[in-house]
Amino acid sequence: DEAIRLSDMAHQMGTKAQDLIKALFGMGVMATINQSLDIDTASLLASEFGYEVENVSFDELEFLAPSEVDKEEDLKSRPPVVTIMGHVDHGKTSLLDAIRLSNVTDGEAGGITQHIGAYHVQTARGEIVFLDTPGHEAFTTMRMRGAQVTDIVILVVAADDGVMEQTREAISHSKAAGVPIVVAVNKIDKEGANPDNVKRELAEQGLVPEDWGGDTIFAHVSAKQKTGLDELLEMVLLQAEVLELKANPDKPGRGHIVEARLDKGRGPVGTMLITEGTINQGDSFVSGVHFGKVRAMFDDQGKKLKSAGPAMPVEIQGFDGLPEAGDELFVVEEEKVARRIAQSRAMKQREKILSSKSKVTLESFLASK
Ligand code: GDP
Ligand code: MG
Repeated sequence: DEAIRLSDMAHQMGTKAQDLIKALFGMGVMATINQSLDIDTASLLASEFGYEVENVSFDELEFLAPSEVDKEEDLKSRPPVVTIMGHVDHGKTSLLDAIRLSNVTDGEAGGITQHIGAYHVQTARGEIVFLDTPGHEAFTTMRMRGAQVTDIVILVVAADDGVMEQTREAISHSKAAGVPIVVAVNKIDKEGANPDNVKRELAEQGLVPEDWGGDTIFAHVSAKQKTGLDELLEMVLLQAEVLELKANPDKPGRGHIVEARLDKGRGPVGTMLITEGTINQGDSFVSGVHFGKVRAMFDDQGKKLKSAGPAMPVEIQGFDGLPEAGDELFVVEEEKVARRIAQSRAMKQREKILSSKSKVTLESFLASK
């Protein structure tokens, strides 16, 4: 393994070992004079002292098995991943809650519902996975980070309020992402409910209902009275069938972080949505600038899992640091490789920060003249 002793490095650089130890401390690394530094730490340290680092170019692809195009026969259909969007107060949270509560199995009813950022429901016609961070921010943040995990958007529009600013925003975000919309006309129970008005307003936005000759699916629901929910889910599954969603479960797992938090007792925990392959307990992985080993894995009911496949939301423990929503997570063969890739990424990120800092300094210096 590539490593360099701190004392050797100091000698080569013509600096005092003590100064290197100090600089490392400033980088959050505790080191002693006899310590071996990995190549990434060493090169970052060297750059702190103005040294050009040679021969540290690192291509993580060299460490990864070449990804092969999946064969048609290896692809298995997978459940759709759904995000609920709509104007504030139109009932996104209520609808998510209603769907979740009316679809828990008897064994789970009354049990503790885990909040892990995503959950899956079993309907008579099939499974659906919901991202339970409703709203546009989550959707756009994920997309900005290159993560497109949503297959279908449920657009909630209150029947007594109609199309509002965030309704239009949701439509344009969905369109930009190329994600089909299923409309849930909510609050159908309310006195001022006017679903035809909602239809007309949405048709003006390009969402023409099927019964008006368009291709947008509408469902009338009341999240409050829990009516129309089964029909809505059926519509979502119909839409999913059209999309022919498939993934290969028989390869190393890969997916995106949808939520992460620091748990007092368990350390960094992240929920990931698996996009392809299978994640197993004990797998080594990279996620952003972090790496880890799947120490434990749970589903949205808090049930411990040994393995999980495509479209399943799972909560994972075993990260070396807090992952970020939108980051990709992928399994690699060896922990050593995972560590190497993560460290190289972290170093590149720090270099970027350092160089942007020095630019700022230079500019402010020029401005002050
Ligand atoms: P969000 O901001 O889109 O998440 O909306 P909420 O789910 O927080 O709902 C906003 C308000 O509308 C709350 O007071 C809900 O109780 C109410 N609400 C939601 N769905 C319905 C419904 O189907 N019928 C009626 N009458 N009220 C509803
Ligand atoms: Mg809400």
